[in-house]
Amino acid sequence: MTTKEEWIEKDLKYVWHPDTQMKQYEGADFKPVLIEKGKGIYLYDSDGNSYIDGVSSWWVNTLGHSVDRLNKTLLKQAESIEHVLLADFTHKPAIELAERLTKLAGEPFSKVFYSDDGSTAVEVALKMAYQYWYQKGKPEKKYFVSMTDSYHGDTLGSVSVGGIDIYKKIFNPLVFETLKVCAPYCYRCPMGCEQGKCTIDCFSEVEELFEKRHNEIAGMIVEPLVQGAAGMRVYPADYLKKLRYLCDKYDILLIDDEVAMAFGRTGKYFAFEHAGIKPDIFCVAKGITAGYVPLAATVTTDKIYNAFYDDFSELKTFYHGHSFTGNPVASAIAVETLKIMEEENIIENLKPKIQKLKECLEKFKPLNHVGDVRHIGMIGAVEMVKDKSTKEPYPFTDRIGHLVFKSALQKGALLRPIGNVIYFLPPLVITEEEIEKLTDIAYFAIKEVTEDFSYSQLPR
Ligand SMILES: *Cc1c(COP(=O)(O)O)cnc(C)c1O
Repeated sequence: MTTKEEWIEKDLKYVWHPDTQMKQYEGADFKPVLIEKGKGIYLYDSDGNSYIDGVSSWWVNTLGHSVDRLNKTLLKQAESIEHVLLADFTHKPAIELAERLTKLAGEPFSKVFYSDDGSTAVEVALKMAYQYWYQKGKPEKKYFVSMTDSYHGDTLGSVSVGGIDIYKKIFNPLVFETLKVCAPYCYRCPMGCEQGKCTIDCFSEVEELFEKRHNEIAGMIVEPLVQGAAGMRVYPADYLKKLRYLCDKYDILLIDDEVAMAFGRTGKYFAFEHAGIKPDIFCVAKGITAGYVPLAATVTTDKIYNAFYDDFSELKTFYHGHSFTGNPVASAIAVETLKIMEEENIIENLKPKIQKLKECLEKFKPLNHVGDVRHIGMIGAVEMVKDKSTKEPYPFTDRIGHLVFKSALQKGALLRPIGNVIYFLPPLVITEEEIEKLTDIAYFAIKEVTEDFSYSQLPR
């Protein structure tokens, strides 16, 4: 029998882990955690230790791990048709999912283009928007606007509209040129405004840019309400309202990257609902299959679609397609996920949990090294700083977030940080009691790391 140690040894021999400096494991006591199974909000390692999945396994899981209904759906679909191409062929799960998605998003959404993951959904949106203008006789509309510190995926097109240095800087010679506007990062407001007393003055940058260069701008892509990978930075819904108005005024497409936020994270199916607006194109992935298998969709309107709809000889076809476009197993799981969400009132039932999370976040505010606490829906974030009064960040080489992560792991929670930000983004099925437990673990881990507070481990 292969022991746990042997598995890990083999892992480090063969597997190159994502977003990971592999050398950190060399001679260190901390190694990748070998997970054997999952149930509900818990992950179990090979030694039988349990961990609350505090980050939904990279923001994908919504209904908990190993859900009976989804397991059955997976097996049943694989037994009838596991995969078939989606050009000249179709299947019921892809059809049903497209119908459900457009109805859920409401008018004017009418068309669904499938792909594999968040990055591809964004690639599709960008190419679709560019080709739209091209076929409308405006090829000069070729620039995309996005925010500083934005994140839209790891492929080169999505990195182009991204704005986080660690993902982008090295690749700057390879990516296409985009236009940037300052992110509405309220804790460190670019306009120097006091948090909570904001009239969204930072939006003036968008106004100036659109006014000056709207003839060259195809679209603006945003992460709605929360800049996730930047550290769960929550910004006001009014920003999106203003943006919708301005996009209409200047004939610029609004592309809404809902990859992280859709399907309940903000307390609604789609984050754009908070602003009472509809984008021209939106992207979903992650939670669409409850975190089971990869699937993504780029959803749009007849306005966009009709610019591609013509005689074959006109060459207006959208020539884009991935091998696994609309995979039947993934589509069937997505349909079942939406059915569960509807039948079990998942969104409606979030209300008391959201309130509980809000209350539980209060305890972090007095901590000596907590600069900012952010909350929206089922997401909470705690930004740790070296100096609370000056907001001086911890140097990234201190790896404060990583230390808290390791401490929390020992206490029974998976809280993989973003730099100096510890965040909660649990499966939506977490209970109020478990929210308390999860935030308590984080509280003591942060105290231990930032205040050198030796607290005897919380009972597991
Ligand atoms: C995660 C994420 C992506 C990329 O999705 P992948 O499935 O990792 O390719 C794109 N946009 C946003 C906002 C994301 O959070």
